[in-house]
Amino acid sequence: MNLKPTRVLIVDDRPANVRALAEALGSDHEVLVAPSASRALELAPSADLVLLDIRMPDMDGLEVCRRLKAGEATRAIPVIFVTGLEQTEDETQGFEAGAVDYIVKPINPAIVRARVRTHLELKAARDLLERMATQDALTGIANRRRFDEAAGEEWRRSMRFSQVLTLAFADIDHFKAFNDRHGHGGGDACLRLVAEALQRLCRRPGELVARYGGEEFVFLLPDVDPESARRFVARVLAAVQSVEVEGLAGPGALSVSVGAVTLIPSPLNSLEEAVRNADQGLYKAKQNGRG
Ligand code: GH3
Ligand code: MG
Ligand code: MG
Repeated sequence: MNLKPTRVLIVDDRPANVRALAEALGSDHEVLVAPSASRALELAPSADLVLLDIRMPDMDGLEVCRRLKAGEATRAIPVIFVTGLEQTEDETQGFEAGAVDYIVKPINPAIVRARVRTHLELKAARDLLERMATQDALTGIANRRRFDEAAGEEWRRSMRFSQVLTLAFADIDHFKAFNDRHGHGGGDACLRLVAEALQRLCRRPGELVARYGGEEFVFLLPDVDPESARRFVARVLAAVQSVEVEGLAGPGALSVSVGAVTLIPSPLNSLEEAVRNADQGLYKAKQNGRG
């Protein structure tokens, strides 16, 4: 499951301990070393797993672990304490600080290796599950579940700051005919290319495009007012017009219809209502000639 080389960060103020752990890991992993807590916090974001000493001069390892667990970028990295403290209370504190495992020194190399491997495999499985839960399998862009989550958060945030928010639905025109003509494989290739083109339009932080279902995509556009929304939709239409599907569709062959709604979220409206309105806009666009 773990094909790319994994990085293990060893945090210990005593070089002899670092050496013993590095030797135990052997050549299975790339090793990073932090001789202090502060260095550990710097290096941790690029590690897949952390082996963490508890007693260090600048900061307690328990505190390092708590900080890693509180940070967005480091929360998911498994931490294993490797320590001379062997009381049950010490171990309990380690788990309370957010560690996944606890190894008492002096270390047994085979056991260190086995536990590291186990926790890296668990992490890889969790990461895969997370990706599968939020990514559309065909196109690789966000899926509807991810959109629903992000839209809910953005809705609340925009309400708090009385900030404008735009939602836009884009549905490929006459896609059934495209499928009938070019087969399901051709249709899939087309969906991938359209998704890619739409993804490229989301450049600002918080902007998201998701595959809502079938050949329908949805944009979440925080802080986009009606004027900017119009310009954005024009870019969507142009981006799809310029999609080429090799051997199947040249430039100008594909089009989408778009329905969008721009509003300031408040207790007087709701996300569900906004989605319904944008969808009605899409329906009208279809009735008024598509594209
Ligand atoms: P309209 O312009 O009114 O949107 O017409 P349409 O043909 O695009 O819409 P309709 O909803 O009738 O058909 C959608 C088609 O999208 C039918 C379905 O086979 C196809 N489709 C949905 N999901 C996928 C997919 O994952 N892969 C492929 N190849 N086709 C899909
Ligand atoms: Mg369609
Ligand atoms: Mg449709």
